[in-house]
Amino acid sequence: MPGLFLEKIEKRFGGVVAVRDVTLEVPHGRLVCFLGPSGCGKTTLLRMIAGLERPSRGRILLDGEDITDQPAHRRRFGMVFQSLALFPHLTVAENIAYSLRIRNVPAAERRRRSEELLELVRLPGYGGRGVSQLSGGQRQRVAIARALAIEPRLFLLDEPLSALDAKLREEMQLELRLLQQRLGITTILVTHDQREAMTMADWIVVMGTDNRVHQTGTPLEIYRRPADAFVAGFIGTSNLLPGRLGEDGRVTVGRVTLRVEALPAGALPGCAVTLSVRPEEIPVLPGETAGENHLPGRVTFVRDVGSSVEIHLDCGGMAIVSASTPKNRPALRQGDAATAVLPPAACVVLAA
Ligand code: ATP
Repeated sequence: MPGLFLEKIEKRFGGVVAVRDVTLEVPHGRLVCFLGPSGCGKTTLLRMIAGLERPSRGRILLDGEDITDQPAHRRRFGMVFQSLALFPHLTVAENIAYSLRIRNVPAAERRRRSEELLELVRLPGYGGRGVSQLSGGQRQRVAIARALAIEPRLFLLDEPLSALDAKLREEMQLELRLLQQRLGITTILVTHDQREAMTMADWIVVMGTDNRVHQTGTPLEIYRRPADAFVAGFIGTSNLLPGRLGEDGRVTVGRVTLRVEALPAGALPGCAVTLSVRPEEIPVLPGETAGENHLPGRVTFVRDVGSSVEIHLDCGGMAIVSASTPKNRPALRQGDAATAVLPPAACVVLAA
């Protein structure tokens, strides 16, 4: 079986379960993000893949070979961690070629390879510099080049961009993703930043505070069809409304009953559900209007940040947020009467 396969992986540290029952596949050449809040087990899962922790249960297979007990140094994986740990006493080129030197690769070949890698990470001519003479982003690129020097079978990155400021971080996300696509290298990236995951990943594995995988899918699948309320709240912003499923397949939320298009498998009439509706799916009309899935209310706040506009409403005690572009901005001000419309197709019904 090509790629990486994790089978029923669990990790306990004494009484703490850090990772619970994870089974998943990372196909060859893809970039997969482990995404979740602090403490959900992302790093522990990555460290087990790297061979730095041993699973308490389960198996790890790479291209069909069981590597669960293989020591880290024999796996030939490239790793970049949050704390970069470049060697400060070595030059950029020596840092990049370090793993080749300990593998006894001849000097000429080491030089050729580090020049090639410096080209790849857009730092040609920087080989002779000291690490302290580099900016944060350049150090990051050197750490990436160093991890790629051994032509790794897997590229593992743990929050590699978290030390960078917001703008550089966004630039590096694109750069790293383009590099990964160009090399076609199977990559796992750990992050708690959903925007970073959505920018970079082919697949996202969302882990929760219960240390389980809640959902695996493409970024847009996860955004549009979250598996549960945790995922809906963690990926992007969403209006999460507690409700109850009626006999007719409609959902009652507060004092209104809404038509929806799809129900979760096994949902029974009378059961509690959570309705998830993304802000950008909710048009707001001026005044109190009646109609299917209309929620009349009042504007409590308008957040206009130039590139996007959020209208916050109080609809009969229910807080609703709608988002639009400046072009479609409804002409509404704080205190105005307004109606939020929840289109049936945009109402994602989740088990409560
Ligand atoms: P963060 O984003 O904060 O780095 P994470 O999702 O990567 O979090 P992990 O570092 O994998 O989470 O930790 C998962 C759980 O396992 C946490 O409750 C943590 O305290 C615990 N844990 C991790 N390593 C150890 C260890 N060596 N000994 C005991 N508990 C540990």
